[in-house]
Amino acid sequence: MECSRTNAASSADGPPSLAAWEFAGLLLTYWCNARCALCYVSAGPTHSGYMSVAAALAVWRSLDQLAAACGKTMRIHLSGGEPFHDWVRLAAIVRAARDAGLTPLEKVETNAFWATDDGLTRSRLELLGALGMEKLVVSTDVFHQEFVPIERVRRCVEIGRAVLGPRRVVVRRWDFLRSPVDVRCLSSTPRDDAFRHALLRHKERLTGRAATELARLLPCLPAETFRGQSCAKEVLQSRHVHVDLYGNVFPGTCMGIVLGRAAGGSTVADAWHSLARSWQQHPVVAAVVAGGSHELLQRARPFGYRELRSGYAGKCHLCAHVRQFLCERGVWPEFIGPAECYLAGASPGDRP
Ligand code: SF4
Repeated sequence: MECSRTNAASSADGPPSLAAWEFAGLLLTYWCNARCALCYVSAGPTHSGYMSVAAALAVWRSLDQLAAACGKTMRIHLSGGEPFHDWVRLAAIVRAARDAGLTPLEKVETNAFWATDDGLTRSRLELLGALGMEKLVVSTDVFHQEFVPIERVRRCVEIGRAVLGPRRVVVRRWDFLRSPVDVRCLSSTPRDDAFRHALLRHKERLTGRAATELARLLPCLPAETFRGQSCAKEVLQSRHVHVDLYGNVFPGTCMGIVLGRAAGGSTVADAWHSLARSWQQHPVVAAVVAGGSHELLQRARPFGYRELRSGYAGKCHLCAHVRQFLCERGVWPEFIGPAECYLAGASPGDRP
């Protein structure tokens, strides 16, 4: 298996080519205790399933081999949904990867919902640290704080800094840890204001559940506004991918666009090579590379898609809305999925 220089770099004159993947997140589950309005994965408490240890190792190994063939080193992170949903399996995956000599685990991402007491938090973080986890990433913002008590987040961060050292704990977003916002006690108008403020402050991308639930909070423009905004950078030239528990491979920022599958005897490396050879035949990738979500809209019209008269809050909102339509009608199921990413009506999460 070789990753040719031609394929690993973008071409100045010809069509764009596929970058070597160097950063990969294993989405171990779509389950989450929370149901954040911003969640780009559309994770939630009604989802189930968790990647097996064997599948995680196979994907991890294949990612390692792909990066090595391109002269790179893979950086792996574990995420979800909420990877601490099945603590025993999470620990088993990290241990098995370490024992197999796979590339060290860069980070685990969590919302800290499980950090209910000091002893439990310390013991889990000590084990992950001992097994080679380089960093812990704790997600907290106004969206997560609707579902996860801030005391648990603080406990996880403080104990994490003590156990791992301050540099190995990353908080996404520090400003919301310093000044939490609890929207549970707000009526709808100030709640919307708090969400809008957060969206604008961090320039959040409106994909997944955010497209369904938050786009209404921002100014919307006609689809024509987004004409010609190619996504080659996001889907072909990004070096970051996610792989879910079914083996679906997604661009790092565009959940629900299936680049290929690492399942049924195919590896991540197979998916990369297949995409590098024939991304022009991928109906979604070809469209968004040619002309962004506006081009995807054009190609969805024959299936009955009609653009929103109220407009779209950005090119990703348009993309997500078109894909939602296509997914619901079973168009291009090999390339748009899985269903979990397109379930708009999941029930509310367990609020504290
Ligand atoms: S418009 Fe679609 S393909 Fe382009 S960056 Fe946004 S989600 Fe990804």
